[in-house]
Amino acid sequence: MCGSSSRNPLERGRFLGHTDAMPEGLSLAVVVAHPDDDAYGMAGVVAMHADDAGFRFTLIHATDGGGGDIRDGFAATRETLGGIRRLEDEAGWRALGREPDRHEWLSYADGALDQVPFDELVDAVAAVLVAERPTVVCTVGPDGIFDHPDHIRIGEATDAAFARVASTSGTAFRRLLHGAIPQSVFERWQAQRVELGLEPFDPTRRYHMRGVPDELIGVEIDQREVAHWVVAGLREHRSQHHVMTDDPDDVERWARIVRRDWAVVAWPPRPPGAPVLSDIFEGLP
Ligand SMILES: [Zn+2]
Repeated sequence: MCGSSSRNPLERGRFLGHTDAMPEGLSLAVVVAHPDDDAYGMAGVVAMHADDAGFRFTLIHATDGGGGDIRDGFAATRETLGGIRRLEDEAGWRALGREPDRHEWLSYADGALDQVPFDELVDAVAAVLVAERPTVVCTVGPDGIFDHPDHIRIGEATDAAFARVASTSGTAFRRLLHGAIPQSVFERWQAQRVELGLEPFDPTRRYHMRGVPDELIGVEIDQREVAHWVVAGLREHRSQHHVMTDDPDDVERWARIVRRDWAVVAWPPRPPGAPVLSDIFEGLP
């Protein structure tokens, strides 16, 4: 996984080591491909830190999700879906109770991020990161959660952007996370799907959920106290309910699914056997 791939730009050691004055408080930037990717990944963390003094939340979407499925009976066309999904995403954060302090839509075409020149994508992400100087950056790892090419591409671009600015001092750019599902949890969910008579995922196939080896997980967050807020946000993604959950009205089941969240610590390198952090900011100044 992260740190083991020769194409990982984080291994190149191009760290600039910023040491200048830092903003007060701990800040987070989440970089994802589509509206709704952010509704699962790190939404609970934002809810948990929503009222912290100085907490700042930056959100970057590479696309507006206009290429997504349109569920039967939903009033959207191929032309209008992207705009609808932007509004759904914004409504989702309002429902969760904490809106981004800065929300950037890079406005690339959904489903075609791998056709954007890689350096252009890196520059677009880096421009926001350099302006915001977040403490922690979270994106998607090489598994893409669903092996989705857009997820993988925005994750690679964010890794490359982070590698330009990563720092071992001050409060900016201290940690890079990849949202992920531990293999053991994935297998438990698969068993539950079978029990419920649902089709299990096939992690060898594109667009199917998959886990990462448990030992790669560096952060495990107990977010039970905000799970219902996370679900309130998820429910606003109405055009996508059919791909997000088997039963959008089963709020309690959805809340159980989001009571924990996990991430791989992509940078700095995490020694094997290091304790699993219980918060994305744990141990940072
Ligand atoms: Zn997505």
